[in-house]
Amino acid sequence: EAYYQEAGRGGRDGLPARALLVAENRDKALHVHFIKQDEVEDGLPGWLADRLGASADGDGRYSLEAPQLARELGGGADKLRSLVGHLARAEVLEPSPAPLDRVAGRFAAKFDGRAAARCRASIDEAARVRWRQYREIWAYVEGDACRRRAILVHFGDRTEPQPGGPCCDVCDPSLRVTAPPPAPETIADLDAAILSVARGARPSVGRTLCAEIVHGGRSQKIKRNSYDGLPAYAASSQMRRADILGRVDQLISEGRLETTGGPYPVLRVAAAAAA
Ligand SMILES: [Zn+2]
Repeated sequence: EAYYQEAGRGGRDGLPARALLVAENRDKALHVHFIKQDEVEDGLPGWLADRLGASADGDGRYSLEAPQLARELGGGADKLRSLVGHLARAEVLEPSPAPLDRVAGRFAAKFDGRAAARCRASIDEAARVRWRQYREIWAYVEGDACRRRAILVHFGDRTEPQPGGPCCDVCDPSLRVTAPPPAPETIADLDAAILSVARGARPSVGRTLCAEIVHGGRSQKIKRNSYDGLPAYAASSQMRRADILGRVDQLISEGRLETTGGPYPVLRVAAAAAA
């Protein structure tokens, strides 16, 4: 967003300007993480409609505390806000202006099968937009076409780029800012690699995937989440994966790693080991 502003406004005073975009592979994983976080589980719109409906008065008006509702929903305030937005676009709710900590409005229609379908369409469209942005942003970052031209086109300017000075890092590689030396985090040994993955992977990973990453696996899951951008990726590629997994389990039994519960347990670095 900052880069978007810089690139769009830079040079309006007629002077040369430079916009710098700093991106690394790990940001991709984070981007995916945020998109997934915004995904709406199938039952949620109906649940929220029921919950608001139960509290509504005879005219279908509701006014509830947002933080409480977000907790019940099992998501944050953002999730609640986007869900209300989808129900509004599905013409079920008419939100009314309310303080940030309240959800208020009235029911315009019942949440029936057709409303549910409209709501689903709104949710799917929002997801499509996010993934499109994801593809566009990373195609731009990783692309090898003139960035000045790409930005001009993006802002609707079809004129031929006329750089008054150095153009961009594609046209003139000497403009490329060299990345600083690898993260200060040095991977000293297998334990350090395992702990580093447990600490740094987003989304967090379980035992098997952690071992795969340290081993340098090339599965879809690793690529999709850019785990191959982690500092400890392939740190012990010469070892057998089973042995790495064995060491993960030892670290767990030694209390240096913990696993969460639930159907998809993930690793956490124990507080003592993190210090
Ligand atoms: Zn260029």
